[in-house]
Amino acid sequence: MIFLLVNCRLLKILLQRKILLTLMYHGVLPNNKKLDPITQKRHILQSEFDKQCRFLREFFHLVSKGEAVDYYLHRQCVSRPSVLITFDDGYRGVADGALPVINKYRIPAIVFISAGYVGNHQLFWFDRLALAVAYSDKTGVVFDGRRFPLETLEQKQEVVREVEWSVKNNPFSSRERIVDLFCLDMDSDVPDDLVRRIMPLDEDQLQKLCKCPFVTIGSHGVWHTHLSSAGLDLENEISDSRWMLSRFTGRSVEFFSYPNSDYTWKIRQKVESHGYKLAFSVNPIFDKSGKHPYEIGRLGINANYSFPIFVFKIIEQFINPTLWSILIYFSGMRWIDEASTAN
Ligand SMILES: [Zn+2]
Repeated sequence: MIFLLVNCRLLKILLQRKILLTLMYHGVLPNNKKLDPITQKRHILQSEFDKQCRFLREFFHLVSKGEAVDYYLHRQCVSRPSVLITFDDGYRGVADGALPVINKYRIPAIVFISAGYVGNHQLFWFDRLALAVAYSDKTGVVFDGRRFPLETLEQKQEVVREVEWSVKNNPFSSRERIVDLFCLDMDSDVPDDLVRRIMPLDEDQLQKLCKCPFVTIGSHGVWHTHLSSAGLDLENEISDSRWMLSRFTGRSVEFFSYPNSDYTWKIRQKVESHGYKLAFSVNPIFDKSGKHPYEIGRLGINANYSFPIFVFKIIEQFINPTLWSILIYFSGMRWIDEASTAN
């Protein structure tokens, strides 16, 4: 059914809602070689990203940063169903894997970067955790006084979630210390090649992105810290990241993305007062419409989505809800709905 829709003009007629949908990606893997199941969901294969972008270019208006500002900040309407593409974190895969596709289809994109990681040749703290667990031969681990088995993928995913949850509210230095000790304890043998593939951007790669006329650089804080528990670091995360990225790029940084979509009312105000024009989250907390200029909702694209599920998740945003329910009911697409919500 999806392919029938995609391959005919009918889809263009069905896409009735003239709204702007913002998508959130993370990494893009240039050589199309998958990662381990724990880290894979954040890194889409380049071939898949190419297919998704071709679809978006065919059926949607892909907005520039100026149009995004007009829509979210100045409340201007879009004349067609529209999509804005964003990337969070600042993986090297955005320069190596996404950039060729962005250039090929001339797609405007905002890349949110955790500035402290640029060129420091260190994995993001959550990736260090995930890889330490994924590549450990241990059958169990004790963390925070609790023992966790590590024999199945689900058990490994659970321990990653638990440790992330437990350390995310710690100040930067103690978070790093706990993650270091945990990784040491896991005694993992992580392939160097894999570490290189999911590294944050270095300076050269960031320059490569800056030279692309379709790419805009935004801030994702300095150390990918949960802002609501950043304490004295909060000011640095918001203002220093802006300053650091402006220095790297030679341009003013106007957009912010809350790490882990974590913010409070006060943080939202602070981001605004520091001169950012727009700030992006995933699930808006205070203005659930997702259209507030300082808590813009985004649709996260899980790298494990098959192409039909990706198409399904996009078009359901643009089709009249009543018509969509009828289509789902009569077309047998309910299994896709269930599969997509399970991810
Ligand atoms: Zn992030």
